[in-house]
Amino acid sequence: RLKYAPEHCFKFSSICYDNRACLSKVFLPTINDTASKTVKDKKDASTIDNDGTFKGESHKLMIRAGLIRQSSSGVYSLLPFALRSIEKIEKIIDQEMRNIGAQKLSLPILLSANMWKRTGRWDTTGSELFKLKDRKTSDFCLAPTHEEEITQLVANDVFSYRQLPLRLYQIGRKFRDEMRPRAGLLRGREFIMKDLYTFDTTEETALKTYEEAEADTGNIGGTKSHEYHILSAVGEDLILSCMRCGYTSNEERAHGLTDNDGCPVCYKDSITSHDSINFHPLKSNRAIEVGHTFLLGTKYSDPLKATFASENPLYKGELLSIQMGCYGIGVSRMIAAIIESSHDSKGIIWPPSVAPYRVCIIPGGDEPEITEKTRSLYDFLTSECDGLNDEVLIDDRMNLSFGYRMKDAELLGYPWLMIIGKKFLESGKIEIHNRHNNQRNYLEFNEIKNLFI
Ligand code: ATP
Ligand code: MG
Ligand code: MG
Ligand code: MG
Repeated sequence: RLKYAPEHCFKFSSICYDNRACLSKVFLPTINDTASKTVKDKKDASTIDNDGTFKGESHKLMIRAGLIRQSSSGVYSLLPFALRSIEKIEKIIDQEMRNIGAQKLSLPILLSANMWKRTGRWDTTGSELFKLKDRKTSDFCLAPTHEEEITQLVANDVFSYRQLPLRLYQIGRKFRDEMRPRAGLLRGREFIMKDLYTFDTTEETALKTYEEAEADTGNIGGTKSHEYHILSAVGEDLILSCMRCGYTSNEERAHGLTDNDGCPVCYKDSITSHDSINFHPLKSNRAIEVGHTFLLGTKYSDPLKATFASENPLYKGELLSIQMGCYGIGVSRMIAAIIESSHDSKGIIWPPSVAPYRVCIIPGGDEPEITEKTRSLYDFLTSECDGLNDEVLIDDRMNLSFGYRMKDAELLGYPWLMIIGKKFLESGKIEIHNRHNNQRNYLEFNEIKNLFI
């Protein structure tokens, strides 16, 4: 074990900083060298998948940056840095959900098969469904999604139009026995999803709810399902767009987007269109699906009897099925997709809003003046600068060389790196690197504040 242990297993700090702020105290098993230490790490960190396909940089970077470790195929532990990012994405989602009046709840992951049998999905979902039995041999599954569960919940407790509309969401684990788990968090067998379910009284109000969710994208189409993608070469979806009218569709679902032979190769370089009279060039891009919305209508409320008494006198004495919609975001996939679209040869480039920490201070040595200034910079940032409380780390692993710690910081992708070293002793200015645009500045304390306004 020791033979393979990375150097920083022996990390220590000779300087006493605020415990919470010290990298020497954080569980962050980075693999700083491009040449990994162990065979397993090498395999995990390679950009080529078992079947020889390109699996992207994000998986490799997440292993090297100590964000995730594999437990089994498609199942990962999220280490402290990754969890901080995920919690930030969840906070942003919570805020947006509050803005549209959605309430957060938490549904079970272990689901009885009853409802799934009633909607027919127990059989139609196929082998992606993780099925299991309890000790009485009743059927259960691990939730791959929650339409059945939430519809049942609402069916049991909503009776009247007075209780509608309702918008309920959760952020939690889903389980799918994917045929080909891939690229770390991009396609896991266990993953984190935000799923919002909406309940309206009429088709029209359900459509309005749906369009409200769509409004941000300016993408209100006639169809009742939309996918949201991040363009990326490692994406498994092929997105086709008509260069004339902008109609864009996933290849899987494209209407009439075929050339005469229906040869998929022809998609790649142009010349077909959804418009059968005039042919127009098509652009194609690989992309990662990060979100998916559906106007469900009564697909689940009918079989599960989620009904209500209407306000409309026309339906007096009748029970109507609730009109539903669902809105999913792949939270853990998002982390991988963000890294996939924001990195360079040195490592991750976190967008500040979801970076595990926003600032890393690297003291150049353990001279008393450097130590003291590091402490006061930390205090200044966390108390005087907007939004930096709990966002600053000090790389106090003084047994590691300055160069090693710099490389680690670039790999980890902090938006801001602040160095207090020899130059500081000469000029009294702090060297600041912006990871996003690679700019270096030399600033005094009072000038730093302006960076975070
Ligand atoms: P895919 O086409 O990639 O298999 P999906 O269409 O099966 O995804 P949905 O049922 O639409 O997925 O789920 C909503 C969101 O959950 C997806 O848009 C995606 O972001 C995320 N997601 C789905 N499957 C996985 C997975 N195996 N690992 C990580 N995230 C996933
Ligand atoms: Mg799928
Ligand atoms: Mg899909
Ligand atoms: Mg989908």
